[in-house]
Parts: sequence; C-alpha cells; structure tokens
Amino acid sequence: MSVRQMLSVDRAACAGHGMCYGTAPDLIDCDDQGDPVLPERPLTDDEVAAARDAVAACPERALTLIDATAAT
Ligand code: SF4
Repeated sequence: MSVRQMLSVDRAACAGHGMCYGTAPDLIDCDDQGDPVLPERPLTDDEVAAARDAVAACPERALTLIDATAAT
C-alpha cells in the first residue's frame, strides 16, 4: 500500500497568483483573497497526479506534497 499524501502550502512563500488552482481546479479552490484552499485530507491516487502538476506549476515552490501520516 502506498503512502498517502496531502497538499501543503507555505503561506509565507505563496504569492497568491493562482497557478496551482489554475492547473488543478477540481482539487484546489481559492478564497476571496486569491489564496489557495487545499483539501485537508489525504489524496486519492488520481488526485495525487493532479496535485503533482499543481506543485510543478507553483513558481514560488510554496506548494508541496507531504506524507499525510506526518501532518498534524
Ligand atoms: S501557485 Fe504557488 S504561489 Fe501561486 S497561489 Fe498557488 S501555492 Fe501560492
């Protein structure tokens, strides 16, 4: 069984320009400030593929995939 992953954002590094939710709109929402709203749960295998695309699209390297079991 694979390790479950979830998305995490470094709010200090995030510039709020929306490449992540533009790349994965079904997975990442945005609030009225333009900041990303991430699913606060482990991702399904299908979602991980979209999440990887979103991580790669983030020019600030603010978005990362983390081990969901390590998240508190
Ligand atoms: S692409 Fe990166 S910097 Fe831009 S809103 Fe998303 S997490 Fe923030």
